[in-house]
Amino acid sequence: MTDCIFCKIASGEVAAKELYRDDEIVAIADLNPQAPTHVLVIPRAHHEDLAALYDSGGGALAQRLLATATKLGREHGANGFRLVVNTGEEGGQTVAHVHVHVLAGRHMTWPPG
Ligand code: 5GP
Ligand code: ZN
Repeated sequence: MTDCIFCKIASGEVAAKELYRDDEIVAIADLNPQAPTHVLVIPRAHHEDLAALYDSGGGALAQRLLATATKLGREHGANGFRLVVNTGEEGGQTVAHVHVHVLAGRHMTWPPG
């Protein structure tokens, strides 16, 4: 996807503060952090959202995204953390490349709004 900001970050075309990278996944600091720790865990391959990822047989990759997000959450949130996957327009998704938000470092509230 030539026009996708997360594809560009994954390929290195656009710079980001990287916290983790492997052959399938990159984790970056969010540009507009909503908590003291706000990391985005992104697959390097383009999938529009979580539903599209599962539709294309990406269950194993989804599991790896969640495992990586949990690892980062544990590292940055000694007293807890929150994982969020906004999906679709009503789900509040603004970048159409699936990603898991890792939020930590403050007390989270509910409902999320
Ligand atoms: P969504 O609203 O799709 O769940 O989350 C998209 C997230 O990506 C937002 O939290 C936004 O701040 C972040 N974001 C958008 N563009 C960029 C960018 O160019 N670099 C980084 N590091 N984060 C971005
Ligand atoms: Zn993409």
